[in-house]
Amino acid sequence: MPGELPELVLPGDYLGAAEEYLPGRGTYEHGGRIYACLLGKPAVDPRDRTIRVDPKNSVPEVDEGNLVYARVEELKTAMAICEILATSTSRRTVPGKPEGTVHISKVKEGYTESWNGELAVGDIVLAKVLQGRPSVKLTTAPPTLGVVAARCQVCHALVNLQANPPTCPRCGHQERRKLAKGPHPLSPGAHDRAAA
Ligand SMILES: [Zn+2]
Repeated sequence: MPGELPELVLPGDYLGAAEEYLPGRGTYEHGGRIYACLLGKPAVDPRDRTIRVDPKNSVPEVDEGNLVYARVEELKTAMAICEILATSTSRRTVPGKPEGTVHISKVKEGYTESWNGELAVGDIVLAKVLQGRPSVKLTTAPPTLGVVAARCQVCHALVNLQANPPTCPRCGHQERRKLAKGPHPLSPGAHDRAAA
C-alpha cells in the first residue's frame, strides 16, 4: 500500500490490515483493520510499519456548485457553522481556512424544526456549495448529501452509518442523522462490506 497511499484520507477511510501495519497516530483499529480517525495525509514508517495520518491544516478553495467535505463546528439556532476540509472530487487542498454555513432550511428537504437527529458537532458532511463568495453557504438537502462520518454522542467512537439505525460499534448507542444516501466509502461498515 505505501506508494498507493492517497493524498488525503477522511475519518473512517480504510488504510490497511492490522497484520500488515501497526496503528499509529491519527488511526484506529477495528476488527483487524486500520482506519483513519482524522482528515489528513497518510504515511507509513518503513522501520516498524506504523501507519499514521498527519493532520491536514490546509483547506480548499470553493466555488458555487462544488461538493465539499466539511466538519460541523457549532450549531446555532438556524445555522450550522462548518469548517470546510476538502473538495470531494480531487480531495486536493490549498492554503486557507474557509468556513461554510448550512442554514437549517437547507439541511434536508422539507421543514426542519431543530438540529436534533440531523447534524451534530463533529460530524463530517458531504455538502454542496450554494454560494462561494463573500461567505460560503452550503446545502445538505439532496438525498446523496449529508453526514458521512459521525461520532457517537455517548463514547465518541465513529458510528457505523451503514447500520439501520446508525449504531455505535463500541457502546451500541443508536444515532439519528441526515445521512448522505447511497454507497459511500467512509464508514467502517462500508469497508467491511466491500471486503466481504
Ligand atoms: Zn458509543
